[in-house]
Amino acid sequence: MLSNEIMKNAWKQHVIVPAFNIPYIPMMEPIIQATRDEDAFCQVAVARLEWIKFEAQSMEAIAAEFHRLNPGDHVRLHQDHIPVIDEDDLRVPYQDLIRKAIDLGYQSVMVDGSRLPLEENIAATREVVEIAHPANIPVEAELGAVLGHEADPTMTYDEIVRTRSGFTSVEETKRFVAETGCDWLSVAFGNIHGAVSEALRHQKKVAARLDIDHLKTLSGAAGIPLVLHGGSGIPKEGILDAVQNGIAKINIGTEVRQTYEQALADGGDTAAARKAVYEKTRWMLREFFAISGTREAVRGGL
Ligand SMILES: [Zn+2]
Repeated sequence: MLSNEIMKNAWKQHVIVPAFNIPYIPMMEPIIQATRDEDAFCQVAVARLEWIKFEAQSMEAIAAEFHRLNPGDHVRLHQDHIPVIDEDDLRVPYQDLIRKAIDLGYQSVMVDGSRLPLEENIAATREVVEIAHPANIPVEAELGAVLGHEADPTMTYDEIVRTRSGFTSVEETKRFVAETGCDWLSVAFGNIHGAVSEALRHQKKVAARLDIDHLKTLSGAAGIPLVLHGGSGIPKEGILDAVQNGIAKINIGTEVRQTYEQALADGGDTAAARKAVYEKTRWMLREFFAISGTREAVRGGL
């Protein structure tokens, strides 16, 4: 079943699809195993910055590990954040990377034009939709700005929320969805990415406060599944509320990454770190997202 149909089913039934980022390749197997053991459904995902700034190695290496593990019904492979302009303000050959992801078997892709002016974000996203849709690959885009990845953050989280910096605009959402034809949309309503700069990446993430009323309005304007980036560190009630109000997918990076890194820092070997990831993932699926046993439901009961 195609990734897009699964997401639509999940969205209609208010079941969240977690997308777990894979900054270290040995994390993938325990995440997939945990998802199977909870009979849930998830995506495993890699963002460009994870093969540049972490140890995901490459788009090819992640795809090869996914195909080696052959997870079947429980998991789909997602290409996360291919930025048009990256966190260090450099232009990225995004069309080439999207084409390459599709050729390698990624089952959905994300183009991130959120650092561009609206018109240019629309144009870049439209271009990616025209590359991906003929191959039956859904496209996620980002409107507004989920901050946090910047090499040198200029605002504290409290300032971001107080000034509503980067919050997605309702008017722009309507226009963006209509003109790009994107399938899923990452929106900003108080969520924040985990820091990736060397100086900050080991810090505990802030407990983000979501503006659910704003989300509701965005969801009404978008009419497509919305995506919550920066899912680590949000209190459970906030997540469950978001799922009832238009969020269909949540990206989890920091929380599982730090679990893996901490196990190694505590003197464990890779096997111990993988076990820690397995346990953390099972706990999140069961206790935090409450999606144990939902695989059938998101597949439309097939
Ligand atoms: Zn993100």
